[in-house]
Amino acid sequence: MTDRLTVVDHPLVQHKLTLMRERETPSAVFRQLLREISTLLAYEVLRDLPVIQRAIETPLAEMEAPVLKGKKLCFVSILRAGNGLLDGMLDLVPSARVGHIGLYREPETLMAVEYYLKLPQDIEDRYVIVVDPMLATGNSAIAAVSRLKEHGARTIKLVCLLAAPEGIAAFHEAHGEVPIVTAAIDRRLDDHGYIVPGLGDAGDRMYGTK
Ligand code: URA
Repeated sequence: MTDRLTVVDHPLVQHKLTLMRERETPSAVFRQLLREISTLLAYEVLRDLPVIQRAIETPLAEMEAPVLKGKKLCFVSILRAGNGLLDGMLDLVPSARVGHIGLYREPETLMAVEYYLKLPQDIEDRYVIVVDPMLATGNSAIAAVSRLKEHGARTIKLVCLLAAPEGIAAFHEAHGEVPIVTAAIDRRLDDHGYIVPGLGDAGDRMYGTK
């Protein structure tokens, strides 16, 4: 663990992740577990949000108490699997804006091809959390963060569920200042760019499309 890479090794996260990895876990359970883990990952990725003191009155006394300081949040989901991490995060921060970037992997080259982009107009003023369950080759996350920077985003973090060492290295080669928060770092990528041991195709597991 470094200040650029955080592995959330909390037992609840690890337990839920193990259930998600298992081949026989049904889609409905997989989605529910992903939602629960995403809340726990959000707790970690947002731990350095700045706060200011506000004067309040409890029923017993006046006090200075912390509240979140100005800067607003935007979650950006890399479609389609990123959507699995959104709801749990929105449970914690319901006022956050949500952006979407549609990227598919070109099967031969494994490069990311953009097919959709919708971001809040004031993204440059927001603290941006990019979500994608699988950091495999890193190509999608690299392309997404490059696009966000083109649109003026300055404070960005990446949250994933599983990361491959190859993806972490490639991502930090491209965007060295963007911290990654993940629940686990797996062994390697296979020849098709899948994470091993991993959990298979996250989108297919979420939506039962295979
Ligand atoms: N995307 C997935 O859904 N799974 C992987 O293992 C790699 C990329």
